[in-house]
Amino acid sequence: MSNYTAPLKDMMFVLTELAGLDKVAALPGYEEASLDVVEAILDESARFTGGVLAPLNRPGDEEGAKWADKAVTMPKGFKEAYAQFVENGWNALSGNPEHGGQGLPKVVSAAVQEMWKSSNMSFSLCPLLTLGAAEALELAGTDAQKAMYLPNMVSGKWTGTMNITEPQAGSDLAAIRSRAVPQGDGTYRIFGQKIFITYGDHDMAENTIHLVLARTPDAPEGVKGISLFVVPKFMVNADGSLGARNDTFCVSIEHKLGIHASPTCVMALGDNSAPSRVPPAAWPSSAIPTSAAC
Ligand SMILES: Cc1cc2nc3c(=O)[nH]c(=O)nc-3n(C[C@H](O)[C@H](O)[C@H](O)COP(=O)(O)OP(=O)(O)OC[C@H]3O[C@@H](n4cnc5c(N)ncnc54)[C@H](O)[C@@H]3O)c2cc1C
Repeated sequence: MSNYTAPLKDMMFVLTELAGLDKVAALPGYEEASLDVVEAILDESARFTGGVLAPLNRPGDEEGAKWADKAVTMPKGFKEAYAQFVENGWNALSGNPEHGGQGLPKVVSAAVQEMWKSSNMSFSLCPLLTLGAAEALELAGTDAQKAMYLPNMVSGKWTGTMNITEPQAGSDLAAIRSRAVPQGDGTYRIFGQKIFITYGDHDMAENTIHLVLARTPDAPEGVKGISLFVVPKFMVNADGSLGARNDTFCVSIEHKLGIHASPTCVMALGDNSAPSRVPPAAWPSSAIPTSAAC
C-alpha cells in the first residue's frame, strides 16, 4: 500500500500563484506547458510515484542494494520500476528535444522530481545523477559526445554518474590524484580510486556513463590541473551498439545509516589488465574543460 500522496493542490498553487507558470509558458519553446497539460502531468506523476515508487521505499531500504563480484544488484522491484519510469518518459521530461527530451520547463520538472524524492529518495538519486551528467555533457561536451551519449541519457536508457570524490579529496578537489594517461591516439587510460559514487554500479540499465575527474601528466597543481573525462561502463561502438567492458568496477558499497537502496560505490579505475579508457581515437578528445563542467 502506498504511503505517499503528492500534495497536488499545493504544487499547483506554487506553480500558478508564485512561480508564474503562465509567464513561463509564454516563453518561446515552452508553449506546451499550459495549465491543463501541467495539471495532467502532475496528476500522472502523482499516480506513478504513489503507486510504483512509494511502495518500494521501505522494502527497498530494508533489503538494500547488494554487492558481489564487482557488481551491484538492486533490491526487488527496482529494476522493473526503473523500466516503467523510462518507458513513461519521466527521465526525459525537461530534456533537450534535440536529444529526444520533452523540453518542458524546469519549473514543471522540479515539481515532478520533488515527487520522486519524497516517495523514494533512494530511487530518485539515480535519475538525479543521470540528469546532472547529461546537463554537464550538454554544456561542455563535443558534438560527437552529445550525439553518442545524450539520446540514451536523456531517455534514461543509460544512467550517469559523477566520479569526483577520492579518499583524500572530498571538499578539497585540489587533492585529486586520479591519473589520465594519454595513449597517443586521442584516448586516455584512467587510473585511480573514487569513493562515495552514487549509483556507480547497478542492474537497472544496460550502460552507465561516468564523468570522471582526473589529472593529465603535465597538468598544473591544484584545481586548475583537473580535467573531466567521459568513461562509459561499456564502450559504445560507432553504430551505437555496446562494445567491450571498460575497466571501471565497483569494488565495494558503503554501509550507510539510510538510503540503503541507493548504492554508494567505491570505484576502481584501471586496476585490471585493460585500464579504464575514454572512447577511441575516431572520436574527438573526451576531455571536457574542468572550468566548464565543475
Ligand atoms: C550518500 C553520499 C553520496 C555521495 N555521492 C557522491 C557521488 O555520486 N559522486 C561523488 O563524487 N561524491 C559523492 N559523495 C561525496 C561527497 O561529495 C563528499 O562527501 C563531500 O564532497 C564532502 O567530502 P568529505 O566527505 O571527504 O568531507 P570533508 O571534505 O572531509 O569535510 C568534512 C567536514 O569538514 C568541513 N570542511 C571541509 N573543508 C572545510 C573548509 N575549508 N572550511 C570549513 N569547513 C570545511 C565540511 O563542511 C564537512 O563538514 C557522496 C557522499 C555521500 C555521503
